[in-house]
Amino acid sequence: MPTPYAYLRGEIVPLADAKIGVMTHAFNYGTAVFEGIRGNWNEEKQQTFLFRIREHFERLAQSAKILRFEMADSVDRLCDIAVELVDRSGYSEDIYLRPMVYLSGEVLGVRLHNVECDTLIFLSPFPAYLPEVARCHTSTWRRVNDTGIPPRAKVTGIYVNSALAKTEANLNGFDEAIMLNEDGHVSEGSGENIFMVRKGKLIAPTPADNILEGITAASVVELARKELGLEYVERQIDRSELYIADEVFMTGTAAHLTPVVEVDRRPVGTGQVGPITRSLSDLFYECIRGNSEKYQHWCTPARVPAVR
Ligand code: PMP
Repeated sequence: MPTPYAYLRGEIVPLADAKIGVMTHAFNYGTAVFEGIRGNWNEEKQQTFLFRIREHFERLAQSAKILRFEMADSVDRLCDIAVELVDRSGYSEDIYLRPMVYLSGEVLGVRLHNVECDTLIFLSPFPAYLPEVARCHTSTWRRVNDTGIPPRAKVTGIYVNSALAKTEANLNGFDEAIMLNEDGHVSEGSGENIFMVRKGKLIAPTPADNILEGITAASVVELARKELGLEYVERQIDRSELYIADEVFMTGTAAHLTPVVEVDRRPVGTGQVGPITRSLSDLFYECIRGNSEKYQHWCTPARVPAVR
């Protein structure tokens, strides 16, 4: 039987024993930064492949830096701990790792300084997050601005913005929200980056459009350029441009690569998954399960049968 383990206060403990107090600063004020890392199960190899684990811990360190949090562990050490957690937990299915650097001090007072800080990691089984193809709408909620809470830092408190958009989308019958930034340009989904294809070019919003700079997105762009020879452009995108795009898709650790077939009740292109999205998706899924020799460096194996 798989038993989930967690890393808390410098120790690996059963998840059931990983508890924090009600006065914890991060719980009260949203003062934490986090990551999501996929562990993709490969049935044939009987192994979990952690996708771009180093890049995720590096982004965690950058988020921590923006909030002036001290991260006690190095990126190397966190990578090792993550692999150990997966090994010990023993899941034979897709999982999701949640590292977090959080203000752990049990003190009152809104601030980022002079509060104790800790790093935790837990994991959970995590099947597909979005349906195979997504129907989206434009949210009435705008993406938070860098002048409020910087969205390039993955701050827990920011996710109220995402949750408002996601719930509105779901309660209105859509799978996911597309959020505009304060300038009215397309920013991203509630937990995904967004791309469109027009005239054979792959186009995405710029890092200055209040997006989280996605690790899945960077991987898909690399595949598009190197494997499909596509031109990739970062520029502002208007909402109405999505209506006339040939193809639209979203990327994210949870969502993987999800084709968007409808935006605001208008079919994207023909309303079917387009050829570029299909090719990229096929390539991407090969890579993340550890089946591509060329992109094996994106995958860190855990649950290596020989060491169990
Ligand atoms: N934007 C937001 C708001 C997200 O929460 C995520 C998920 N981490 C992404 C984009 C996609 O980033 P990544 O591909 O690195 O998971």
